[in-house]
Amino acid sequence: MLIPKAFKFRLYPNKTQQAALAIQFGHVRFVYNHYRAVREGFYIDTGIGLNYNDCAMDLADILKVDNPWLKEADSQTMQQALKDLDRAYVNFFDGRAGYPAFHSKHGKQSIRYPQRFKVNGKRVYLPKVGWVKAVIHRDIEGQMKNCTVSKTKSGRYFVSIQCEMEVEDPTPNPAKIGIDLGLSVLVALSNGDKRLKPKHLYKSQRRLKIRQRRLSKKVKGSNARNKARLPLAILHERVANQRKDFQHKLSRELVNAYGTLSFESLNIAGMVKNHNLAKAISDASWAQFVSFCEYKAAWAGGQVLRVDRFFPSSKLCSDCGHKNKSLTLNIRQWVCLNCGSLHDRDTNAAINILNQTTVGVTESHASGWSSDRYERRLYALQPLKPNSFSVG
Ligand SMILES: [Zn+2]
Repeated sequence: MLIPKAFKFRLYPNKTQQAALAIQFGHVRFVYNHYRAVREGFYIDTGIGLNYNDCAMDLADILKVDNPWLKEADSQTMQQALKDLDRAYVNFFDGRAGYPAFHSKHGKQSIRYPQRFKVNGKRVYLPKVGWVKAVIHRDIEGQMKNCTVSKTKSGRYFVSIQCEMEVEDPTPNPAKIGIDLGLSVLVALSNGDKRLKPKHLYKSQRRLKIRQRRLSKKVKGSNARNKARLPLAILHERVANQRKDFQHKLSRELVNAYGTLSFESLNIAGMVKNHNLAKAISDASWAQFVSFCEYKAAWAGGQVLRVDRFFPSSKLCSDCGHKNKSLTLNIRQWVCLNCGSLHDRDTNAAINILNQTTVGVTESHASGWSSDRYERRLYALQPLKPNSFSVG
């Protein structure tokens, strides 16, 4: 089995290289944003969607001719930006991500080299930039496919090298688990276990909120505001890293213990239309967790399944299938009026998610209620496609 694996290292470009990278980031961002606007405008005007090839041709024939300074940028990174834009649109139309946003010069900067980069002991070679000092703290395994160079908002540089490696086909683990993702605070499992978001993450998220509010009160463009931006960016990165760390550990633990992981569907694309904003934001932050589970499960020969997002996982009694129509968000425990079972809201939802995805697959979770009797039959299974590349 061929698996993708990413290796991420810190880069230390010197002043000249930083300037060269700034040009690469800026030009690629210009191209990305230009075609982001062109694709939208063309569609509004004509009703026809442009694809990667249309944009790549336009880039070579028109944009580069009109803007000769674009020659300073590596042409492959510009083409790659068009491919990334295309992917962003595909992900949007497939409901996996929100609408492609413009890239801001204040946000995280990145470019992707599809080839012609090299790694040599303590340095990485980037076209148009040169050999950049790097801390290669682990061996790169497999065949290098492409690399992404990024600069975080706090001013740190990284290179992430995507590789492909051949591994032995794993033996799938037959154990199954249903997972209910709460409002970014907790995860409930169908075996009754619960995991709270770690306290340190909760604390730094609170601190982030307070500082964000302080920044937003300062006048736009003022010195005070610009000064406050860097510490906020550093804190932002730390919170994101803490969350990632927590999600990596939890997904590793789950994938080690279970071969099949069942989730509810996350409603990411519906974020704008969704009136339940807290739920939408929480879904967006959990999307990363589910993708970690996905690729880890794929490497272990397991799978991630998800139920339709209209499946009423909270409201069904997991013992008899009766639907509790009066269940509101604030009720944490309830008794089924049909069979008398006492339910913990989240555990019950996790059991329903598991039952729903294992209908017709195994009898062990059917626990007495026939599959054609209740609504669960109506909701189709949607297996997830394994992620192409993720940081491991
Ligand atoms: Zn019941």
